[in-house]
Amino acid sequence: MVGERRASTTDTAILEVVRRRTETTRVEISRELGVTPATVTYAVKRLMAAGLVVESGLADSTGGKRASLLRLNDRARWAIGCTIDADRLSVVAVDMTGALRSRAVLPLDPAAGPDAVAVVLDQALSMMERDGTLATTTGIGFALPTGRGDGASDLVSTLSSRLPHPTVSGSCALCAALGSFWSGEQPEQGLTATVHVDAGFGAVLLQDGQPLRSGEGSTMDHVCVDPAGPPCHCGGSGCLHQYASSRALVDAAAGVEGLAEQLGLALTERTVDSDAVLIAMAAAHGDQRAGEILHGALIALAQAAWGLASSLGVDTLVFSGATLQAASGVVRETIGEHIAVRAAATGQMIRVQVSQVQPHPGAVGAAVLALQTFMDPRPGAPG
Ligand SMILES: [Zn+2]
Repeated sequence: MVGERRASTTDTAILEVVRRRTETTRVEISRELGVTPATVTYAVKRLMAAGLVVESGLADSTGGKRASLLRLNDRARWAIGCTIDADRLSVVAVDMTGALRSRAVLPLDPAAGPDAVAVVLDQALSMMERDGTLATTTGIGFALPTGRGDGASDLVSTLSSRLPHPTVSGSCALCAALGSFWSGEQPEQGLTATVHVDAGFGAVLLQDGQPLRSGEGSTMDHVCVDPAGPPCHCGGSGCLHQYASSRALVDAAAGVEGLAEQLGLALTERTVDSDAVLIAMAAAHGDQRAGEILHGALIALAQAAWGLASSLGVDTLVFSGATLQAASGVVRETIGEHIAVRAAATGQMIRVQVSQVQPHPGAVGAAVLALQTFMDPRPGAPG
């Protein structure tokens, strides 16, 4: 993750408590964060002066003087999040509470270079401007697009250099996890793992909504799901990506007589992800051959995810990504059943969910990342 002009940790933590509780008091904040009342009073004064927090009445009496209730001024600041998939660019604006306020999804030529992507991003942002969101934007977050291959971080730095707002970027998996958490799909407390599937497999852990940072090269692609499987270029064999990636789904479909034609797959290098979504949709609508292909991929994914969740004691497993979302019922049932059987046999409890955040959990999460990174209450701070 890269970024600039970070907000102070105390201020960010206080804003997070106020957001989560909707309405709270200084005493409750001090108790929850384990910091002195004086620190909270001083920070809240700063946040109120910046217009980020407002007083909204008095709490019920507990005997003494009634405390003031605090809540977020949700119209004060916005953050924008952006994902760049192979074939489309999604931009969303969220307010201070993380609620989705505006969005735009524009088609993208899979062959588009940085200049062409910048033009489409400009277009999307000007659509946002009509809603008056840009003027109060604290920053823009990018979900690093794995769908665009190795050039992704270069693309994001090119785009960032042309924008007037500070920018931050995180992996698609991190953004999907944050988007899912802020949209209320994950419990407020506990350890959750978000497994995000696009061109590869990413996993991100959130402890009570806070990401546990994983290394740059983190991937589930080479988790072994079958030691007797085909050799992989990593030196192992039977790796997850060989069974469950978009490429694996499309190759399997191409190998079944007449199936690619029936499903309308384009079978080109650039349409691997959208072809995989078509296979998942057909499976969701009861196509038996597509269903068998998806089932094999989901069992491989369930095995890898079980290893992760079981060894770390994860409470909730959330699966995200366009292909999985296209067949969310099948995914929840197939993976849920596999995990439930193994969890029961070993005395564990793991909930399985499929992220439904629209238009893109990564875009919502990237905006949340920008909000958390740049919400700076200092007078004169960008905003
Ligand atoms: Zn491998």
